[in-house]
Amino acid sequence: MKFATKAIHAGVEPDPSTGAIMTPIFQTSTFVQASPGQHKGFEYARSLNPTRQTLEKALAALENAKYAFAFGSGMAAIDTVIKLLKPGSEVICGDDIYGGSYRLFVRVYEDFGIKFHFTDMQEAQNVEKLVNENTKMIWVETPSNPLLRVIDIEAMVAIAKKHNLISVVDNTFATPYLQNPLELGADIVTHSVTKYLGGHSDVVMGALMLNDDKLAERLYFLQKSCGAVPAPFDCFLVLRGIKTLHLRMNASCENALQVADFLVNHPKIQDVYFPALPQHKGHDIAKKQMRKFGSMISFTLKDDTQAAAYRVLEKVKVFALAESLGGVESLCCYPAAMTHASIPAEVRKATGIKDSLIRLSVGCEDAEDLIADLTQALQ
Ligand SMILES: *Cc1c(COP(=O)(O)O)cnc(C)c1O
Repeated sequence: MKFATKAIHAGVEPDPSTGAIMTPIFQTSTFVQASPGQHKGFEYARSLNPTRQTLEKALAALENAKYAFAFGSGMAAIDTVIKLLKPGSEVICGDDIYGGSYRLFVRVYEDFGIKFHFTDMQEAQNVEKLVNENTKMIWVETPSNPLLRVIDIEAMVAIAKKHNLISVVDNTFATPYLQNPLELGADIVTHSVTKYLGGHSDVVMGALMLNDDKLAERLYFLQKSCGAVPAPFDCFLVLRGIKTLHLRMNASCENALQVADFLVNHPKIQDVYFPALPQHKGHDIAKKQMRKFGSMISFTLKDDTQAAAYRVLEKVKVFALAESLGGVESLCCYPAAMTHASIPAEVRKATGIKDSLIRLSVGCEDAEDLIADLTQALQ
């Protein structure tokens, strides 16, 4: 099955008791048994709920994965992956990752004896150099947040396979419509479903997709043991959202190309970070591993100050100044004070996050209106 057909149909069956075409919201905590242990596949809703099960099948299909597990947030999904490790384990991560992932790794899991190394993964040898006998996992986020760096997934997977490490790719920015890390050999894909998969800025959720039976068994055990599962209503909303993932992505990627073109030619703009641009360092790798270039764009101003960035962000009208991304509505944010505030200023500076850096999540409105809005805000 091709992508659009899968997005609309995969995993979803008419409800057997009524014929309802849409999976009902099974708002129940428990399931009645005929005799102890004799039930219809559901015992208690933390372990499994029919609405969640349908969503997990649909999510698995999108990444061509054997398994998917849904969580109460993207961070809960990431947290579950780190729980595959033990004290003494070491993880190699990109140095430009979601601020919340950085915070979880450094400020929660370092206390549990897990060590995280952050490096510029654009150069594979930086990663290779950090591998030692305690290394257990490679954590890749591509395109990265907020600098839109592109990491070569196949190169990272090759290092992971060589040293017997678990390779994880946070595929939130690309979505399964644009990039399928499992097909490039990665072991686990993580998503903040809150973003493009949900697509309407009305739900917080996370997911893991994978093919490996043993890892899946452990992740399911962790999902039910630790209990960070999403609510049935939220699963329903995401089942609805993913039916239009391809339509929304086509529209927002097309808009992003036009917005980037406008920004590149604007006299007040210094740098534009967007993988579609031929001058972008990761352009060729993006062409190799992604079907389109996504709809996240970051840029800096010639007047590289926080005050100048704030003046722009206070003036936008169609773009909303808000954290998050991937909804049908366009958003803008100032990563240093918003999504990435939990990363120390020196660390942010060292990775190249400049004082005027603004991040856009380009949505599905008319491109002309988005460009007119940026034009007036930049004035
Ligand atoms: C938002 C985000 C997360 C965290 O997901 P939540 O749903 O907010 O918990 C993780 N990774 C990336 C790349 C994100 O953008």
